[in-house]
Amino acid sequence: MATSARPALPDIQGLTFRTGAPLSEYTRFGIGGPADLLIETGEEAAFTEALRWLREQELPHVVIGCGTNLVVSDAGFRGTVLRYTASAIRREGHFIECDAGAELMTLVRTTVDQDLEGIQTLMGIPGSVGGAIYGNAGAYGHCIAEVTREVRFFDGGAIRSVDREGCEFRYRESVFKRNRNWIVLRIRMELAEGDGPGLRKTADEILAIRNEKFPPTLQCAGSIFKNLHVADLPAAARVEVPEKVVREGKVPSAWFLEQVGAKDSWEGRIHIAPYHANLIYNTGGATAAELCRMIDRLKKAVHERFGILLEEEVQYVGFEGGPTAREQGK
Ligand SMILES: Cc1cc2nc3c(=O)[nH]c(=O)nc-3n(C[C@H](O)[C@H](O)[C@H](O)COP(=O)(O)OP(=O)(O)OC[C@H]3O[C@@H](n4cnc5c(N)ncnc54)[C@H](O)[C@@H]3O)c2cc1C
Repeated sequence: MATSARPALPDIQGLTFRTGAPLSEYTRFGIGGPADLLIETGEEAAFTEALRWLREQELPHVVIGCGTNLVVSDAGFRGTVLRYTASAIRREGHFIECDAGAELMTLVRTTVDQDLEGIQTLMGIPGSVGGAIYGNAGAYGHCIAEVTREVRFFDGGAIRSVDREGCEFRYRESVFKRNRNWIVLRIRMELAEGDGPGLRKTADEILAIRNEKFPPTLQCAGSIFKNLHVADLPAAARVEVPEKVVREGKVPSAWFLEQVGAKDSWEGRIHIAPYHANLIYNTGGATAAELCRMIDRLKKAVHERFGILLEEEVQYVGFEGGPTAREQGK
């Protein structure tokens, strides 16, 4: 049930509730205070009805997926956190329809097992399909935008669909990131007939590499910062970047972080991997305050040295001034 300070949710069938849910249990970082209320459902009608009601009442709410790309404040979230857990995957010829709550890795495994080519290099990216669309998840030169044909979403008032162009996908960007009331419900992808054993080999090799770099129990969010387009760099910084580190027109932010001595550094119980300067993780019991101090420290060091403002790939929840306060620089 909703807390007494706020109007009670109407009686919507198919929702499960948890009051005071510790968000550290819902994030891969294992960091974050409680949410006033956590709602989970696998039913589209119940999910959209709850969202519509929260919106109409102007009550703070946020949708999360698997929490693999989230930094949640130590104070938690004063409002309702929603998780959509529908996870059906359906095939029609070369097309796959998948609910937003499915895990991306399950989707990848399903497609390669059915000899369908297109997302095999995304194997090992944790998180939900909804989260993957939101941030246009990608790896090894490919991203989910390439195969996406249509996204069914709730715009706060009604369910609508948008084609790939309408998704306005860019590097780690989509229209859903810019319209936070637009919540992904289902996607339709088009894949190609592929060589099954070859696809499975690629997916398994990538998974093995990733599991070494990001052990499944590592409390992290993958890369904290986005990579940078060479074309966007100030001239003085561009001349310093060795040609060999540039990939697909981008410089890994890890390169800049390495130059400022980020590797193997500490902030409380937050540590940066000695082998990867953009991999920040919780060694156990770390706080969001420690994590944010580390992020701020790194941004400041790179800015002072190169005149570049690194941009976070991770999304913030529950910071003073609103869920997006930190990323908006407030
Ligand atoms: C070890 C590790 C490695 C990673 N490697 C990669 C990588 O190689 N490439 C890559 O792109 N990412 C990578 N990531 C980041 C992360 O896996 C992706 O961003 C993932 O797509 C996030 O999905 P999620 O369900 O966990 O989203 P969450 O972390 O729960 O949420 C992230 C954002 O998505 C929004 N969101 C979630 N569901 C929906 C929905 N249904 N509709 C609208 N918005 C929604 C949330 O509001 C939030 O703002 C990595 C993370 C980890 C921990």
